[in-house]
Amino acid sequence: PKVLLTGSTGFIGAAVLAELIAKDYTVVAAIRSASKAEYIKAQHPDAVASGKLTFVIVLDITAPGAFDEAVKGAEYVVHVASPFVLNVSDNEKDLLVPAREGTLGVLRSIQKNAKDTVKQVVITASFASVFDGPVYILKGDRIYDESVWCKNTWEEAVKKDASYAYATSKLVAEQAAWDFQKAENAKFAITVLNPPFVFGPMYQQVTASTVNTSNQIIQGFNKTPENPDPEHSFIEVDVRDLAYAHVAALGNPKAENQRIIVSPGYFSYSSLIEIIKKYQAEGEAYAKGPDDSDELLKRERAIGGANLAKVKEVFPDLKFHSYKDTVVDTLRQLKELEAAA
Ligand code: NDP
Repeated sequence: PKVLLTGSTGFIGAAVLAELIAKDYTVVAAIRSASKAEYIKAQHPDAVASGKLTFVIVLDITAPGAFDEAVKGAEYVVHVASPFVLNVSDNEKDLLVPAREGTLGVLRSIQKNAKDTVKQVVITASFASVFDGPVYILKGDRIYDESVWCKNTWEEAVKKDASYAYATSKLVAEQAAWDFQKAENAKFAITVLNPPFVFGPMYQQVTASTVNTSNQIIQGFNKTPENPDPEHSFIEVDVRDLAYAHVAALGNPKAENQRIIVSPGYFSYSSLIEIIKKYQAEGEAYAKGPDDSDELLKRERAIGGANLAKVKEVFPDLKFHSYKDTVVDTLRQLKELEAAA
């Protein structure tokens, strides 16, 4: 089956692309710079040679009709592209508009040119469109599941900091998708994935100075292992498991018209720093030693705060990486990147 994928030049999209190719899908990757295709082509030479991976340039995802050509003939659309940067000058222009209009643009183009072929659209939303706390700490005093919606507003997001605006961009994009599907009485099913912090190996073109926003948390503590917030406790997911979920959602009736928090469980700055210190001290001896995730996450699991039952129900075959493996595999790659810098 043919899939239109956006965002394959980024952290999550590159992992989704690898998973789609591994599962033998035919992929049209919409990217905004032709030069970035070269790196991806070199990663997937067989798929390129067999015609299973082709590219379409969409320079501006907010331009009217941007995806009109790209959607033609697709059976599935996986929309990952959205700005995840926090050093922005204009919250509206740099975050809110591309997130919402990019999502709507994809859906409008489907309705215009592919409504008879596209069966399902998978959208990479975020746990940010679920979580409504003022700071990213789960306290266990309430339980977050897929019925909860973040209460941020566009108006506030224009004025507040970039982190609030980013969360809001994910919220308004997700809301716009559900509203569009309803208003248009669209035939396609939507699957919204709501991942929390995503860590893990980077398949995208990357150097030590261009690490993606979420892995910069690990990179930052790796340089300065000091905890700014000992109370911190949240949820995470490995990018490889999130990529698996994107692809396992395709044609999966249990995933149709659902939002799904994709996470195996908890993490925290303190546990992250513990792993970093052990890896710095013992290297591969620690990496290859016993999995100490249970021990590391005792406090966080006792605090709780998230109901992660749905992802297990929708994807019963998804075997999540252990927290330790996720962090160590990221650290190992960061070490290589720093050495090459
Ligand atoms: P990256 O920054 O690594 O990738 C972002 C991707 O989106 C890139 O392919 C980028 O293209 C594309 N993109 C960004 N802005 C635009 C734009 N204005 N027009 C066209 N394309 C654009 O981030 P991630 O891979 O981490 O994030 C991917 C998705 O996952 C986003 O929707 C993000 O909100 C979501 N997400 C990420 C989480 C995380 O912890 N990483 C957690 C929850 C959700 P280009 O290479 O051309 O810049």
